[in-house]
Amino acid sequence: MEFYDIFKSSPVQKIQFRGHELFLKRDDLLHADFGGNKARKFFGFFLKDLSKYRKLVSYGGNQSNAMVSLAAFARQHNLIFEYFTKPLPIFLKINPVGNLSRALHFGMQLIENEDYTEFVSKTQDDFPIDTIFVKQGGAMPEAEVGVKLLATEIHAFAVENALTELAVVLPSGTGATAVFLQKHLKFKVFTVPNVGDSEYLKKQFTELVSNPDLHPQIWDFPNKKHQFGALYPEYYEIWQELLIDTKVEFELLYDPKTWLILSEKLADFSCPVMYIHSGGIDGNISMIKRYERFATL
Ligand SMILES: *Cc1c(COP(=O)(O)O)cnc(C)c1O
Repeated sequence: MEFYDIFKSSPVQKIQFRGHELFLKRDDLLHADFGGNKARKFFGFFLKDLSKYRKLVSYGGNQSNAMVSLAAFARQHNLIFEYFTKPLPIFLKINPVGNLSRALHFGMQLIENEDYTEFVSKTQDDFPIDTIFVKQGGAMPEAEVGVKLLATEIHAFAVENALTELAVVLPSGTGATAVFLQKHLKFKVFTVPNVGDSEYLKKQFTELVSNPDLHPQIWDFPNKKHQFGALYPEYYEIWQELLIDTKVEFELLYDPKTWLILSEKLADFSCPVMYIHSGGIDGNISMIKRYERFATL
């Protein structure tokens, strides 16, 4: 697959789930290595003149989808890629599976650092001019260009299909994709926090888009506190149900909670609903292994 395939629009298909019909925007099919919303979020970087840069620096979790996209991007553009993360658990050090192994394969230089959180407050100004600094998960103003393109594609789809109303649903991590999408989309965007709680997500929205009228609507479980990356049998169950009923593989970190909440809301909608598949399924390998180990305990 060519790098420039990310300039093409992603397909939309119809799916049935629990008796409801939905549109599914397949952003997971955008590109093999930059698939999903990371392709959207890093699109602005892909357009940059990179000739004056030598190095890319970022930080975050050891199975991050953003990490893989950046590693592939750095490889293609002959940039050194330094990625800071917390010290790896021993089993990963011995056998780096999933996204970690893919990113290392692309030549990523992994730097294990106990207080890598010091990066949270850093900006581009803290780095030399030959270095591009990318915030965790790509939650930064540059992400807007690519997400705006997603909004344009959804508008075009609505026109082609004579839809005057549409509810658009997607999972949130940093919230960057959801908030930039709502800023540019004329339809209502609904999203579910996966990394922090609703308060965290609202704060994230405000940091990137100050006008609250342009923020998506947040859905969450009323009482249940779910921890990002933890295993929940109901997550695996709905993921399997989706796989069987729609023949589409969804992602195991962000999609299950979003689908659990969405499935309860579907009956309330009188307008068509579109779900955005944000990609990241290469990370499933390590999650499936964890769920299998969990099931035998
Ligand atoms: C990164 C990611 C998200 C979260 O995107 P944000 O813009 O950080 O909210 C959701 N789903 C998948 C599959 C991702 O890889």
